[in-house]
Amino acid sequence: VNASLGNIETDMGAALHSLQGRAESIFCERFGSDPSWVTAAPGRVNIIGEHIDYNDGFVLPMTIQRYACIAAGPAANPSPGRLCSIYSETLDELVAVETDYDESATTPGWVRYIRGVLAGCDQLDMRPDEFDCVVVSSVPLGGGLSSSAALEVATATLVEAMCNSKLDPLQKARLCQTAEHDYAGVPCGLMDQYAAVFGSDSDLILMDCRDETSTNVVFDDPSVSLLVFDTNVKHDLATDEYGARRAECSNAADVLGVQSLRDVDVARLDDAQSKLDESLFRRTRHVVTETARALDTAQWIRDRNWAAAGEAMYASHESLRSDYEVSCPELDAAIELAQKLSGVYGARMTGGGFGGCAILLVDSSAASKVGAELARVYKADTGISGMWFATRPGGGARVLRRPANAGDGHTDLEFE
Ligand code: ADP
Ligand code: MG
Repeated sequence: VNASLGNIETDMGAALHSLQGRAESIFCERFGSDPSWVTAAPGRVNIIGEHIDYNDGFVLPMTIQRYACIAAGPAANPSPGRLCSIYSETLDELVAVETDYDESATTPGWVRYIRGVLAGCDQLDMRPDEFDCVVVSSVPLGGGLSSSAALEVATATLVEAMCNSKLDPLQKARLCQTAEHDYAGVPCGLMDQYAAVFGSDSDLILMDCRDETSTNVVFDDPSVSLLVFDTNVKHDLATDEYGARRAECSNAADVLGVQSLRDVDVARLDDAQSKLDESLFRRTRHVVTETARALDTAQWIRDRNWAAAGEAMYASHESLRSDYEVSCPELDAAIELAQKLSGVYGARMTGGGFGGCAILLVDSSAASKVGAELARVYKADTGISGMWFATRPGGGARVLRRPANAGDGHTDLEFE
């Protein structure tokens, strides 16, 4: 084990520990005692399978070693009709949440993610007594690494711990998704919440978006890491174009007489070309080849064939750039520059596109050098300062702390 590899792993392991410490000490400062419970849930990147979830295909998310972490305890100053008081360190805001979920205007947007989860738990008769809590997070907000799902799943895990009762994991992921739909107003798929719930620190998750099942893909070779490179740009096109792509895919599926484009085999692409106009065909070709690449990449990762997995990532990017047209010059620059660096197996944009993050499959021993060099050449090329970090799978949601006398008969809750 070489020195820089040691760095990545120890620093990241230590990172959750220090995040927990920060949540606990802020809780203590704010509310005057130690917290009784601490939970955490990870952000994620999608390794491959982009713009595939709404086409019923396969995605391959990996949890990252960046987490939302919540410290909580019984309310220091209980107030009738109040459910909880929440302080977000990230936003430096303290908000009281009432039990009647009055949707009146003043609730800050970020509280809605938490309220939505509490409301979902409430419907399942999981009602904690009034509590205080502190939210800290090492997942960058709004960067496509799913700080929102991390927050939701950390909240659901907190309610589980406080109520000494465990949700069915799939139900838990769906409950968090529903919170994001109905309370935050974001019509997201299930992947992010699913990854945060089902994540493992040695596996990727190959998720079938049609039936919402998954198989784990072992990714436990410490000599390979993911490098996340944030281009630090976000073009406005994203929301409109996302809606447009969804509509195009659904049109193409109608023309081809299939339920969704997942049902089109690579071998049927020639036939599809004769039935679709030029632009609709290119959208279809992306979805069909990307679904195949996701399945292939899962196998190559199982086989530790990093070269093949990396090539698939480059191919994915090219397909998203030219066929699906959801990339942007900054993402393309990052990928092109990454491709020239040694220690890089592959790279692609990740997330919806038009900015956000690129991901690189790299040799762990080269990760720091690759990150620094990519940031340098990206800055020289675009004038923009990118940010980066290296990560291995971050594991799923977990309880980091709970009262010593809790857990009798509830040993099914995981401890770290
Ligand atoms: P992403 O999930 O890609 O980070 P989203 O826009 O889906 O981006 O979610 C980001 C939103 O989630 C934030 O604007 C905020 O409302 C909420 N959020 C996430 N983490 C925190 C946090 N630590 N404190 C408060 N709000 C948070
Ligand atoms: Mg999100």
